[in-house]
Amino acid sequence: MDIRENIQFLKGVGPKKAQALKKIGIENIYDLITYYPRRYEDQSQIVPIGRIKVGEVVNIQGRIMAMAEKNTRRGLKLLTIMLADDTGVVQLNFFNQDYLKKKLKVQKSSLFVHGKVGYAYGGYGQLAISQIISFDVINNDNIDSEENINSCAFMPIYTIPDYIKPKDFRNLIEQVCTQDILVKDVVPNFIREKYDLWDKQTAIKKIHFPQTRQELEKAKKSLIFEELFLIQAGLLLLKKQHQVKNKGIKFLSNSELVKTVKNNLPFNLTAEQEKVWQEICLDMQKDVQMQRLVQGDVGSGKTVIAILSLVKAIENGYQGALMAPTEILALQHYGKIKELLEPLNIHVGLLTGSLKVKEKRQILEGLADGTIDLVIGTHALIQDNVIFKNLGLVVTDEQHRFGVNQRAKLEGKGEDFLPDVLVMTATPIPRTMTLTVYGDLDVSFIKELPPGRKPIRTFVRMPDRRNLIYKFVKDEVAKGRQAYIVCPLIEESENSDAVSVEMIYDELTSGYLYGLNCALLHGKLKPKEKEDLLQGFLSGKIDVLVSTTVIEVGVNVPNASIMVIEGAERFGLAQLHQLRGRIGRGEYASYCILINRGKNANSLERLHLMEKISDGFVLAEEDLRLRGPGQFFGSMQHGLPDLKIADVLNDVNVLVNARVEVQRAIDYGIDKKVLNEILELQYKHRFLKISDV
Ligand code: ADP
Ligand code: MG
Repeated sequence: MDIRENIQFLKGVGPKKAQALKKIGIENIYDLITYYPRRYEDQSQIVPIGRIKVGEVVNIQGRIMAMAEKNTRRGLKLLTIMLADDTGVVQLNFFNQDYLKKKLKVQKSSLFVHGKVGYAYGGYGQLAISQIISFDVINNDNIDSEENINSCAFMPIYTIPDYIKPKDFRNLIEQVCTQDILVKDVVPNFIREKYDLWDKQTAIKKIHFPQTRQELEKAKKSLIFEELFLIQAGLLLLKKQHQVKNKGIKFLSNSELVKTVKNNLPFNLTAEQEKVWQEICLDMQKDVQMQRLVQGDVGSGKTVIAILSLVKAIENGYQGALMAPTEILALQHYGKIKELLEPLNIHVGLLTGSLKVKEKRQILEGLADGTIDLVIGTHALIQDNVIFKNLGLVVTDEQHRFGVNQRAKLEGKGEDFLPDVLVMTATPIPRTMTLTVYGDLDVSFIKELPPGRKPIRTFVRMPDRRNLIYKFVKDEVAKGRQAYIVCPLIEESENSDAVSVEMIYDELTSGYLYGLNCALLHGKLKPKEKEDLLQGFLSGKIDVLVSTTVIEVGVNVPNASIMVIEGAERFGLAQLHQLRGRIGRGEYASYCILINRGKNANSLERLHLMEKISDGFVLAEEDLRLRGPGQFFGSMQHGLPDLKIADVLNDVNVLVNARVEVQRAIDYGIDKKVLNEILELQYKHRFLKISDV
């Protein structure tokens, strides 16, 4: 069976069903067979309800006999369900599951539940499962097909919408899996043998219909390896191709201008900064293109490394570009760098999307004729009309905000040579992600902060303490400090209970913070207004900056030592850590107060981690673990494909192996045509395309 064949060629799929399948991304046979089960119902291990015991973790399955909902004193919605099979009844307690309630019908719906058995509230009689680890709603028409369920030891359960019947879906997969699937293998034989992996066809068949647990494990192992191998192979080949086809610039070793800039700095580089700077110098002095990622926690001093690298490029007669994710950050870099470099006769320009036409034209001309040595800007830098005379180095600050494609676009602006590329990120990227998204980059770490930083003390508080919190802010301002108040949204929206920055601003300036010099900053302001505000805050004229997350990255005002984050539960931990990184930059004790407006116990627990953990890398790993890769990566705009089976968090070891083996496979000769084919099938070019193979 041809895997590219449209799904409609299958028996039982008409236009209507095809449409339904398309909604979940299934258009051809390959999409279908790589739609892997979410879990399996291990029939042999379902415990009769009459035999469950307190303290055990069990699988049970039964029909819903009764259902009731009430509000608890802690503000949670408790949904109680009585579930019965032929042997007994057990109570199930679900919290805040509005959606579930709507789906269930008493006497009709059945549930599969995996959870820990305890006693029902208020007694030692009735058993209850309150700690529900996972569950599945089994529709009525599904439960009737008992013979189907019993025919395989592990019944695959797929995440599919209500309008597709589980039984139908399984039948489709079965239809394909009982035939020969012509899917090619990218992982070479000798590697599969080494790791005891199945070929792809076998692995796919077994993942849907395993006969034993061992088979299931092996199928999973094979497919996870294959997926990570694919991505790594794609990225590494891309890099190689890049370097072979295009010559990089060979910069000369350090000289006067770089030394002067370094000597003019108000501080010495830390040992960590010095180490990274040396790594960069070596890269730049080679005639292959530099592609390096510099990772360092917020405040570790990456900017200065970027500046030195840019000066090195300029001293060699090339232009440099520094791309920042927000206008505010671009403005700030521009101000600082101009001050540092213009006395040395380096011409610095600023290019953002909102410049006036005339200003923009001037910058564009300067870049094209080479009178501008260094340009700092936002996404505006990657517009087609931006042409450089001889771009030698591209630095992207806060790389996690840009996708792989945007990075590539700026690189493409070099003329005869590929410009060197340096990417900076403060958002700690878990190792798994460095190896996947940034698999084509070399990585440097700045592992320590410059000396003399005071730790930031972080507190999680409920809104009822706001009067105390803002009194504290007021007291600190009276001592000469400054504060950030951060809110999630710009405007109030009707169907959200999130607090808006405007609302908070009005409230504070007429209440708690009356009499202080407050300003309101958000992304919709004009650049000039933003610049003035930041300038005012930097110079100390403004005491309190009420802001959205536009200040998240890079903003540097050492006298600001307090941050209050309203509605903190709406942010990820990595993002909160970024925000928090705005304070603790000077000599003063710094305080970050997270106001939790959430009602969810989990989000509170998550916030409490901020009190305990100050290492951004540890927080990022926790964030990833707690929210799952979808949300975590979603908020990062990373350019990572949706992985079909591998789990970036749990499969690190496999990833590392895959990476080593890809290198061997490439040396041995990898079939690029097949690789490209599979990459295209698997990710539909949303991820990467290796051209010209
Ligand atoms: P980030 O890595 O978050 O971009 P920055 O480059 O903005 O950090 O640096 C944070 C602050 O630390 C800046 O005020 C910068 O001037 C200062 N800084 C950087 N390197 C050093 C150093 N070696 N010694 C002292 N201060 C430093
Ligand atoms: Mg920075």
